[in-house]
Amino acid sequence: MTNTQLPAIITSSNVTKHYNQTYALAGVDLTIGLGESLAIMGPSGSGKTTLLHCLAGIIRPDEGTIRLLPTDRSAAAEVTSLKEKGRTALRREVFGFVFQQGLLLPELTALDNVALAAMLSGLKRTDATEHARAWLQRLGLAEHLNKRIGQLSGGQAQRVAIARAQVTQPVVTFADEPTGALDSSTSSEVLSELLASTTGRGSTLVVVTHDETVAARCSRIVRLADGRIVSDSANQPMGNDQRVQSSQYVQNNR
Ligand code: ADP
Ligand code: MG
Repeated sequence: MTNTQLPAIITSSNVTKHYNQTYALAGVDLTIGLGESLAIMGPSGSGKTTLLHCLAGIIRPDEGTIRLLPTDRSAAAEVTSLKEKGRTALRREVFGFVFQQGLLLPELTALDNVALAAMLSGLKRTDATEHARAWLQRLGLAEHLNKRIGQLSGGQAQRVAIARAQVTQPVVTFADEPTGALDSSTSSEVLSELLASTTGRGSTLVVVTHDETVAARCSRIVRLADGRIVSDSANQPMGNDQRVQSSQYVQNNR
């Protein structure tokens, strides 16, 4: 099943990945819409992370194809046939990433972490720093720009991770258990900011989560078991406060 109301941004067809004799993905067909928030759920080991990594061009599937459809901000690409250099460019310029941990450099300040991502996507240092500061301020971190990641709380660090992912205005943001290490009220705030900064400006969020309260706030829920999609349903998102108005996100950044 696909969400026919939205134009597609990514299509995957028969995506298969195995490690030795074990199938991590056993043939996944999925069409992801522009502007949707898609939750990927399923038991541990069901292939969620592997699917996310294939869709994002981090790993290459054994079989199947993944296509990125063209938008006014990015060209069409066949992700599965790109060489490493092309996939790196996609990851830096078109996709954004928020993981449970690991993408931020602990020895750099919040500002430098975000500015570095902007520079890797091609901005000059002064512009990168300006955009980084603006994003961190929007996410409530104005007081923490010059703190190292190690000096921040888990929720603050995840806000830096969101700023880092969004400073390049990605077309698709991939998040793997982004609130997995947070308490429930911090998790809820971080998710609000993640949704507002992605779907709030019309871009797509793909989020792997174990948490039904996270999934309940997404517009679509896909469930995996043993490397296959076992259910795919549209969802009426619950409890989304629009703390950050989408129009704020359209201004300023590229
Ligand atoms: P999930 O994110 O749903 O917990 P994963 O996608 O991480 O699941 O893993 C799916 C299956 O693939 C599991 O059986 C896991 O052990 C296996 N797997 C994932 N990555 C690797 C790897 N790099 N090497 C060997 N097996 C792997
Ligand atoms: Mg996983």
